[in-house]
Amino acid sequence: MKIRVPDHIASLSPYVPGKPIDELERELGISDSVKLASNENPLGVSPKAVEAICNQAINLNRYPDGNAFALKKELSASLCVEPDEIIFGNGSDELIDLIVRTFLLPGDEVLTADPSFMIYWLSARASGHSVSYVPLKNFMVDLDGLLSAVGPRTKVIFLNNPNNPTGSVVFPGELDRFIRALPDDVILVLDEAYMEFIEPGSTISGLEFLDYNKNIIVLRTFSKAYGLAGIRIGYGVSSKEIIDYINRVRLPFNTNMMAQSAALAVLKDKEFVDKTINLIWNQKKMLYQELERMGVEYVPTQANFFLIKTPVKGNIIYEKLLFSGVIVRPMDSYDFPDYIRLTIGSVIENEKFLMEFAKILQGFKSG
Ligand SMILES: *Cc1c(COP(=O)(O)O)cnc(C)c1O
Repeated sequence: MKIRVPDHIASLSPYVPGKPIDELERELGISDSVKLASNENPLGVSPKAVEAICNQAINLNRYPDGNAFALKKELSASLCVEPDEIIFGNGSDELIDLIVRTFLLPGDEVLTADPSFMIYWLSARASGHSVSYVPLKNFMVDLDGLLSAVGPRTKVIFLNNPNNPTGSVVFPGELDRFIRALPDDVILVLDEAYMEFIEPGSTISGLEFLDYNKNIIVLRTFSKAYGLAGIRIGYGVSSKEIIDYINRVRLPFNTNMMAQSAALAVLKDKEFVDKTINLIWNQKKMLYQELERMGVEYVPTQANFFLIKTPVKGNIIYEKLLFSGVIVRPMDSYDFPDYIRLTIGSVIENEKFLMEFAKILQGFKSG
């Protein structure tokens, strides 16, 4: 190809998502496989959301409401913020990218924990910015480390709470201290994709600090506890001023009509969300107990996924599980080669995982 591509693009490789069930079954000619790799909702889609999507289908000849008026109104009431302190994205992924593109000047840097969610550095690097990383300490985000890593070029800090892929949280008092110490010319993005799953009191939402006069953006998503990963919608909450700037970069129809209606419906379906959270909590306890019984170590989590230590390289266990029809996430690219990441699924899915995992471990024990 004769086209010159910028070095910061040429050096990137595409994000590798969790393997889709269809793809695995096509490749191996198997059925009844389960996907516990992308932290999706095991209860499926809220029936109210399905109904809303069906009702909206006849309007698809029209453009969606670029301002998502109805959804914004409902959400602003439930979060107790003003409508113009909210912005929607085609998944919160898009908002991460929009934040990078809105605020970073040439030479500005992104700061984040390592390992954490890959989209932070992918977006930054795709826009030609460098990224500084602060290693986790004992699987937890090191807030003091982040603070001392803030330099003159640091513009945006991405802090994932709970952190993907470890499921760890930052302690409320420490987050408070961290935010108070932040310089005024830095934006802190608190990505709370899994906040619904935390055990009460274990951590605190960035929403509690929005009046601290610091530059804070809280990101949330409908992809996890709300069960709408496939339709793509998430949101950000911040000051009117910050939201206004991001709105100038956002494409006018970034969230589609069905996504807005489905999100509105599931926001009102408290029963579905509560059921989801209770299932995750109960199954988390069950999985912990079973793994302990098997003598397997894991990293305790506040999210709907966790790291499991593997007796051989995690990648080998990942491959073997695939052949048994169980998709988990290998952790090599996150620098945890001796772990797999398991999404907490339904009762049946988790039982299938435990059964196949035990068989594989047994195979290694008996040589
Ligand atoms: C899943 C996830 C998101 C949400 O992504 P969407 O684009 O809203 O589906 C955001 N941040 C983290 C850390 C995640 O794991």
